[in-house]
Amino acid sequence: MTSMREAGIDLSAIEHNVRTLRELTGTPEFIAVLKADGYGHGAVDVARAALAGGATRLGVADIGEALALRDAGIDAPVIAWLHAPDETFVEAVARDIQLGISSLDQLNAAATAGGAVVHLKLETGLARNGLSPQDWSTVFAEAARLERDGLVRVDGVFSHLSNTSDEEDLVQLRRFEVGVAAAEAAGLRPSVRHLAATAAAIALPQTRFDAVRIGIGLYGLSPFEGRTSADLGLRPAMTLRAQVVAVRRVPAGHGVSYGYAHRTHGEATLALVPLGYGDGVPRQASGVGPVVIGGQRFHVAGRIAMDQFVVDVGDHPVSVGDEVVLFGDPASGAPAAEEWADAAGTINYQIVTGIGRRVPRVAE
Ligand SMILES: *Cc1c(COP(=O)(O)O)cnc(C)c1O
Repeated sequence: MTSMREAGIDLSAIEHNVRTLRELTGTPEFIAVLKADGYGHGAVDVARAALAGGATRLGVADIGEALALRDAGIDAPVIAWLHAPDETFVEAVARDIQLGISSLDQLNAAATAGGAVVHLKLETGLARNGLSPQDWSTVFAEAARLERDGLVRVDGVFSHLSNTSDEEDLVQLRRFEVGVAAAEAAGLRPSVRHLAATAAAIALPQTRFDAVRIGIGLYGLSPFEGRTSADLGLRPAMTLRAQVVAVRRVPAGHGVSYGYAHRTHGEATLALVPLGYGDGVPRQASGVGPVVIGGQRFHVAGRIAMDQFVVDVGDHPVSVGDEVVLFGDPASGAPAAEEWADAAGTINYQIVTGIGRRVPRVAE
């Protein structure tokens, strides 16, 4: 390790995950989702690895994220789908960024920007953004007119599932099919119909259409409760690790960290780890979050602070400079990100995405 804390990003794992999911889904197009800085992994490096693994397009939430990819020299197709109320799309169109369109106002702004490539987003039940079914015929007719005038090109139609249950997802699927048929009836010929994110792409083949939008699976994590990365043939890409920065030997009954929420059972060695909630290590995992030091599993002792936490290693020989792994690929003996998610009452998505800016990402 070159710094006292780091997130190792295994780019070959990203490539492997894309190849694995491409093979499974078999769709002509594969959209690698890179929002929130590549779920905390570093969007630019992940984009390159995903494209090397066979992704054909990139997806982000907002235009700023898309521009950051363009600034880094990535010229693959990029779509952004979450826009500010006053967005004009002028810079996005100039930089060849495709636009998810969720309202007639957005469609008109895209046309005014001139020559926008758009994907019409249909509301099918998630109740976030997207065109409401009662507006479909108006907006589709307008889009067809703007397309004839050369002001927009409707490259795609898409929606997003709730992942509540297979039954509820299939209700959304049926609404999506109705919407696609209505778009075609209005004269639109979207070549990329896309509905499934990772969970449906794996579990509901009928939702795959022309493209899948893969986020969490790209990073080697499972979207399913009770199915691990290994069950899905995926390799977790992020390893969060640090160096022990101090050790001290204390007597039995010694309080540890704020509030003395932990007291040593016997004489014990305490190891100090320089990661805290300021780095995205959730304070809710105090007393529970797992770590591996020297091949041995321990857990956080007492409260996680902003910058650091303590591990009670008992009589195990632990020294300053030893590596502490919080999570990574369980195949390598690391705890899983899901264990931290369970400890904190959240999901693996939030654990990796929340790792803070103070933690350097190191490609490996
Ligand atoms: C985040 C997101 C995805 C990716 O979801 P995963 O569950 O991480 O695969 C796909 N589509 C949209 C619209 C999203 O917001």
